[in-house]
Amino acid sequence: MSIRRLIGFLLLFLVSTIIVAVGFTQGPALLGGQSLGTIIAVAVGISFLLLFLYILADRVVPRDPLRLLQDPMQVTLEFNRRTLGLSDEGTLASAIGGMLAEWLNVHCSGWLLLKPRDNLLSVKPVAGKGNLPETPIELARTNWLIQELSQRRTAVLHDELEASSMPEMEKEWFRQLGIAVYAPIFEAGILTAILAVGAREGSRRFAREELDLIALITALATPALKSARSLTEIRQLKETMAQLTEKLETQTALAGISNTAHSEFLTITSHELRTPITQLLGYADLMGTMVRENTLDRVTAAQVTESIVRACGRLNEVIGQMLDMAQIDAKALELKLSTTSLEHILRRAFEPYLSALRERRLTLNVTGLKALPPLVGDEPRLAQAFSQLMSNAIKYTPDGGRIDVSVRVLPQDDKQPARLLITFADTGIGIDPRHHRLIFEKFYRVGSSAQHSTSTTKFMGAGPGLGLPIAKGVIERHGGRIWVESPGYDAQKFPGSCFYVVLPLRPPGVDSNAVLAGAEDIARLRSAGTGRSG
Ligand code: ADP
Repeated sequence: MSIRRLIGFLLLFLVSTIIVAVGFTQGPALLGGQSLGTIIAVAVGISFLLLFLYILADRVVPRDPLRLLQDPMQVTLEFNRRTLGLSDEGTLASAIGGMLAEWLNVHCSGWLLLKPRDNLLSVKPVAGKGNLPETPIELARTNWLIQELSQRRTAVLHDELEASSMPEMEKEWFRQLGIAVYAPIFEAGILTAILAVGAREGSRRFAREELDLIALITALATPALKSARSLTEIRQLKETMAQLTEKLETQTALAGISNTAHSEFLTITSHELRTPITQLLGYADLMGTMVRENTLDRVTAAQVTESIVRACGRLNEVIGQMLDMAQIDAKALELKLSTTSLEHILRRAFEPYLSALRERRLTLNVTGLKALPPLVGDEPRLAQAFSQLMSNAIKYTPDGGRIDVSVRVLPQDDKQPARLLITFADTGIGIDPRHHRLIFEKFYRVGSSAQHSTSTTKFMGAGPGLGLPIAKGVIERHGGRIWVESPGYDAQKFPGSCFYVVLPLRPPGVDSNAVLAGAEDIARLRSAGTGRSG
């Protein structure tokens, strides 16, 4: 019996006891001394008093949840009030979980959402109140519970499930949910979800009226869950659409960049190739004229020859870069591996730039070269990659700036072999984050080709936009990684850029037979007195 009814009965009992007691003790006097009218008035007064007390009790004592069931309209109104505007399965489950906790004292409930997958049904728990383990399960459509719910179209008790022929593994999955009642939800006649109502404290069984209340809530939840699931699907579709649109936009932007870069490349390469060819033609013409007129002296001949050699050198360099890029693109870059040292490689890479550093009053500071472990790699190729980073640091740093190169060993761990981390930090113009990835794409240069001035060391000089892609190709061929960080581009404040290279001490998958004797090995062999060739 509920507290409310108990209090009601107690009040009635109290009042009727008083009436009977007064009637018996005072009855003859009252009846004898009073008129019939007074007696009727007293009786009516007592009735009103009883009515008033009953109404008072009805208001003061909390509502009996089971009385709600006797008034489905109340349940419907309350359900609608609490679930109005809830648009996803999770919040809907919490609201229903709240009602079940309040009305039936159930502290664990939620959905088991069913989704067809091939011939199976994937069952995904969504907790509303308390905890439901989140691991989904895949059940055959012939699973005992699915069959039973589809046929009965009313709730199934967990005790029945325990006694069923369901395989033990599946029973175990249901057991860990801690559910007592499984109420089916149908959409267009198909079982699409289950309202799972948890066991109560002390595993108290549900009374008939309570199961009816669960059935009513399930019926009310059906359209709400349907619209919540549709909204979730729409949201997911929207997200997928947004992701696809973003992908498409990136692809279009990249295609645009690639087209622009391609036409830029044609402009730049024709400029890069034409400049030395024009110079060569000019010098050849000059020499021819001087020879014909017999005016070519030794000094002039030496100067003209020097200029011709320089122009040929530049031509050779540009064509070399194009061929290297073609090899990287075709994944055909051959490495000639030897055991060497990073110090050796960096010396080789920086040596051609020492006079430019002096001319441009740039300070070069190299740290961390002491006691580095030996490195297996293609020495000329690695020197080419680092020389490109040095050339860029010089080109994009104003006179008087600073370039810091630092090296440190990244220790070996379970996932990674021992590696070197080499950083090139400059105090130059910096790079807008939008270009951080793109500058490693071939033919891509920041700014237009109109600002292009061919040089490997002049401030803001530029090449054909192949330097960084080649450096990346070489580093990656060694199993390494290269990237840049910079706060942004600013040709007034010079925020600087920092290029990072991670290089394994030995390229992955290289066996020692493939490693040639490097300069250091030869030096060691020589000093040991072996391998002397004269
Ligand atoms: P390029 O042959 O034109 O030098 P790179 O591939 O070496 O081409 O570099 C691509 C672009 O990256 C350059 O045009 C330049 O805008 C930018 N860049 C590279 N290094 C730096 C740096 N240290 N500071 C600022 N910008 C840089």
